[in-house]
Amino acid sequence: MRLRLSRIHHPVTALGPGRRIGIWTQGCTIACPGCVSRDTWPADQETEVAVAAVLDWCGTVDPAGVAGVTISGGEPSEQPAALSELVAGLAGFQREYGWDLLCYTGVEENEFADRCPEVYRSLDALVTGPYRAGEPTDLVWRGSANQRLIPLSELGHSRYDEWVSAETSAPAIQVQVADERIWLIGVPGRSAMSKVERMLADRGIRLEGVSWRP
Ligand code: SF4
Repeated sequence: MRLRLSRIHHPVTALGPGRRIGIWTQGCTIACPGCVSRDTWPADQETEVAVAAVLDWCGTVDPAGVAGVTISGGEPSEQPAALSELVAGLAGFQREYGWDLLCYTGVEENEFADRCPEVYRSLDALVTGPYRAGEPTDLVWRGSANQRLIPLSELGHSRYDEWVSAETSAPAIQVQVADERIWLIGVPGRSAMSKVERMLADRGIRLEGVSWRP
């Protein structure tokens, strides 16, 4: 089985509790106005990789440095078969090392469960709902107030219950430089990207080809 993959990274510290593996799928048809990840929208076949290769990569990371895995996108539920195989493989790490599995989706919980029932049963937590630029929020790990963090399993409740309603006015953003690109990891607060652009412009740096503009 092959998965369209935007990128994979460790450690991710801005999308879920602890140091995590981040897996971003490629392809999203939801097209939320204001999405900062427009680069993940095209369902580009050239981004396909074997699910087994993704799992092998996860197996190379020292498990002592991993609290869990965050799957985001793109829209993971638009690749239900590949996502199912991926999560089934990650469940092995979940059982062996106690990694929790968190997934972001731009659809609501019921629709996600309909699209990917096996995945839904294996996840520890889910962040649901499209990004709505007109509903800003300080809720941790969410981009707009409509998005819900839903603990699903016993492990999920133990790790995520305290974060369901937690807020921060200074959301963490990680910066990673790879493949001659700058990747920002996390959920930026309102106007964060335009502030970054202004700060860089003040220092004579102009950003081109950014993922938050068409
Ligand atoms: S915010 Fe998420 S669901 Fe919405 S368009 Fe962007 S990638 Fe797709």
